[in-house]
Amino acid sequence: MMRALPLVACTSCRYCTEGCPMQINIPGVFRCVNDKIKFPNKPQSPYGWVTGKGGKASDCIECGQCEDICPQHLPIRDLLKQAAAQFE
Ligand code: SF4
Ligand code: SF4
Repeated sequence: MMRALPLVACTSCRYCTEGCPMQINIPGVFRCVNDKIKFPNKPQSPYGWVTGKGGKASDCIECGQCEDICPQHLPIRDLLKQAAAQFE
């Protein structure tokens, strides 16, 4: 059942985070997205806490460095836009 869910296939390797000029906790944001898919009735999301020390998903300036380095080839910029619409 879990495999059938449309989760973001982020492995939390964090290769993407060091070079992000906006210091966005990219895997943390995707964890929030996946939690919401897995537990839709959970009232609270840790999104505020996850992004508290760096940028929010909407702070992405679309430089693309994260997508160049992501071993999962995730469309990070588009996924962050969706996360911003969902959580901000
Ligand atoms: S595209 Fe956005 S999330 Fe990726 S490194 Fe650039 S600013 Fe950070
Ligand atoms: S590089 Fe890709 S798989 Fe690794 S943490 Fe970043 S988004 Fe997730």
